[in-house]
Amino acid sequence: MTEQRASATSFGANEGASDLAAILKRRGISRREFLRFCAVIGGTLALPAGFGSQIAEALEKAKKLPVVWLEFQDCAGCTESFLRASHPTTAEIVLDVLSVDYHETIMAASGHLAEEAKHHTMEAGGYLLVVEGAIPLADGGVYCCVSGQTAEDLLMEAAASAAAVIAVGSCATFGGLPKAAPNPTGAVGVMDLIKDKPVVNLPGCPLNVVNLTATIVHYLTFNELPEMDDLHRPLFAHGARIHDNCERRGHFDAGEFVMEWGDEGHRKGWCLYKMGCKGPIAFFNCPTVRWNEGTSWPVASGHGCIGCALPDFWELGAYKTVDIQKFTPPATYPSVEEAEEDISVVDVGIVGGLAGLAGLAIGAAGMAAARRSQSGEKEGG
Ligand code: SF4
Repeated sequence: MTEQRASATSFGANEGASDLAAILKRRGISRREFLRFCAVIGGTLALPAGFGSQIAEALEKAKKLPVVWLEFQDCAGCTESFLRASHPTTAEIVLDVLSVDYHETIMAASGHLAEEAKHHTMEAGGYLLVVEGAIPLADGGVYCCVSGQTAEDLLMEAAASAAAVIAVGSCATFGGLPKAAPNPTGAVGVMDLIKDKPVVNLPGCPLNVVNLTATIVHYLTFNELPEMDDLHRPLFAHGARIHDNCERRGHFDAGEFVMEWGDEGHRKGWCLYKMGCKGPIAFFNCPTVRWNEGTSWPVASGHGCIGCALPDFWELGAYKTVDIQKFTPPATYPSVEEAEEDISVVDVGIVGGLAGLAGLAIGAAGMAAARRSQSGEKEGG
C-alpha cells in the first residue's frame, strides 16, 4: 500500500484547465450546491469537517484529466452506473471535467477514428485508465478481442503509460461472473496482471459511482490515491462492515429475523440474516452512501446483501446463510462467545483484577485495534 501511495503521480501534467466554474454555471449549478457537494464527498472520504473547502479549491484549479476507459468481459453495468442519473448532478459534472478520450460504449467515434483517439492519449501519457470487465487468458485470450488485439494485450498496452489504474466493478477487480466456476475463459481481474502500477479496486455489481467520484476527487485534491486495504480497495468505501451500519441491526441483536419472503418479519423490516444476507462478512459503504443518488440500497428494499464487493461472491450462494463464527454485538453488550476452556471462579477473580490494571494502560486505542483486527479476520467468512 505504501508503495502504491508513493508511486501515485500528479494529474497536473496535462494541459488545459477544466474551468469548472464555467461548466457549473452553464449547467445551472450554484456555488452553494457545489460547496455542499464538496462537503459530502469529504464526508464520503471520511475526512475531517472543513476539508470541503480544500476539495473545492483543488477541483477549481484541477487540469483536465484524460481518461481511457476499457471494457472487456462485462455487461456494461458499471458504465450504466457511471452514466445513470435522473438529472445532472454535481458529481456528474465533476466527472464531466474529465476528458474521457476513449470509451467504446459512449464515444461518438468508431473504428479507426476511435483507435486513433486512444493512441493519441496513450502517447501523451499521464492519463487515468479505468477498466471494466474481466480479462480472459485461456486459449490465447480469444474470448475477448477488440480491433484484433486480445483483452490482455490491450490492458497491458494501455496501462504502460497510465498514471494510475482504476478497476471498476466485480469483474475487473476480482474476475466476477466470468470467473465463476468452472471459469471456462480463464478470466482474471486487473490486479492479477498489473503489478508495476497503482491499481485501485472499486468492486461492486455494479460500481457505485459515488465511490469513483470520491476516488478521483481524492486524487485531484491530494495528488495521491486514497489509502487502501490488502485487496486494493479504498478504506473510505470498504473499511466498515455492512452489518455494523445496517438499519436492521437492532432486529439482528434482538433475534428478530425474516424467515420467509413476505412473512410478518419481512413486512416489518426485520433482519435478513436467515435469508442469506452477507452483511456480517462484507465491508462496503452501501448503508451510508446508498445507491441511485442516495435513494436506497438492497437491504433497505427488503433483500439481503449478496456480498458483491467480496472476491468470488458468485460462489457464496445468494440465499445461503453465512456462517458467523463470532457474533458481534455492540461493545456495550457482554460477549456471546463460548469460553474455549473451563474457567474456575478463582481464575475469573485473578483475570478480573489483572484486567482492571491492564485496562488502565491499554485504553480505548487498544480496544479499537482489537476490534479492527477482529473485523479483518472475518471478512469473507
Ligand atoms: Fe442488516 Fe444483513 Fe446484518 Fe441483518 S444480517 S443486520 S439485514 S446486514
